[in-house]
Amino acid sequence: MIKKKIIKFNKYIFEKKDLRFFDQCVKTSNISSNHLYQEKCQKLVDKLFNFKNSYITNSCTSALEAAALALDIKVNDEVLIPSYTFVTCASIFANFGANIKFLDCNPDTLTVDLSIIKKSVTKKTKALIVMHYSGVALEIDKIKAFCKKKNIFLIEDAAQCIGAKYKNKYLGSFGDMATFSFHETKNISCGEGGLLVLNNKKLLKKAKIVCLKGTNRAAFEENKTKYYTWVGKGFSALASDLTCSILYSQLIQYKEKNNLRKKLWNNYYNFFSSYKKNNIFKYPNKKNFKESNYHIFFIIYKSKKIRDEYIKFMKQKGISCVFHYLPLHKSPGGSKFTPQKNEEKFIVTNNVSNRIVRLPLHNHLSFKEQSKIINKSKYFLESHNLKL
Ligand SMILES: *Cc1c(COP(=O)(O)O)cnc(C)c1O
Repeated sequence: MIKKKIIKFNKYIFEKKDLRFFDQCVKTSNISSNHLYQEKCQKLVDKLFNFKNSYITNSCTSALEAAALALDIKVNDEVLIPSYTFVTCASIFANFGANIKFLDCNPDTLTVDLSIIKKSVTKKTKALIVMHYSGVALEIDKIKAFCKKKNIFLIEDAAQCIGAKYKNKYLGSFGDMATFSFHETKNISCGEGGLLVLNNKKLLKKAKIVCLKGTNRAAFEENKTKYYTWVGKGFSALASDLTCSILYSQLIQYKEKNNLRKKLWNNYYNFFSSYKKNNIFKYPNKKNFKESNYHIFFIIYKSKKIRDEYIKFMKQKGISCVFHYLPLHKSPGGSKFTPQKNEEKFIVTNNVSNRIVRLPLHNHLSFKEQSKIINKSKYFLESHNLKL
């Protein structure tokens, strides 16, 4: 039997050139955290994206954990989090006993907006986690100003957004803290890896202690104390130099990787937008993507039924198209750890999660493979149009 070649939703191929700095790391035997490549990566992201203080972490999840510890999140602290996002945005805060309030999403950006936030904020709200979905920024300047006025800490989960901007400023530079992911599903990757950006000076000192395992090692290295020891909350948050050396190579290439995604994204967009007369789905708003890093191409079908039929049809043709987040407010963990008392009905979130589908988009997708995806989609859409 001939094995059919599957077009995967995501594919990461390790390229030999990403070992160029790894070898140097091995040669010097400086392989733990806090060595040359942690520092080189920090300096590079600061230079590339105009960040001021950052750490390369083990993952975006560990960057979120560091943020929660730096904020000193305690039992019953009220934290606002989108329902339509990745699990650890919420689970990390639940680990500390926070009182989590989930937020609905905007049908255009598939993430929160200021009016949604305003409806749920109370006097007790301590922090707001926002997430930029698919590489597209939410109205982060307005949200930032609102949080400042209300004395609420703002965390930007920019996991998907390396190199994306809002009004010509890089995402990650708006929140008190921001987190990024370099997991293999993201635009650039070192397997597992993340970035914590520290924009709030008051939190900086605390975050350094958290990231350096609860010690005052940073102060010690700056000759501000004679010894170093346990001084506060912390854990092993930072990536090893082996990981950082691979990330350093990927960071250098981030622009070309984003540009390739842009080309692929535009091909999908041009195809789907030519189907305007076909009213069985909604395609992304191109205007929103102007400053994005083209992390995801999604379409939203008229119904869950058609969406599921599309996924099944594509699978039969050897193409893996996938849905996305199951809303956190409905997840078993969500019900267990975040008993909701607010009146939110999550109409948009429920609706979108049932109807969305993401198409293959990754750094190794060939234009030939993409043509096949487009041709099969065309067949599906046309046969559905006949039925309507
Ligand atoms: C990928 C992702 C994460 C998790 O990143 P890890 O590096 O795997 O911990 C968190 N939030 C969002 C929005 C993501 O897309």
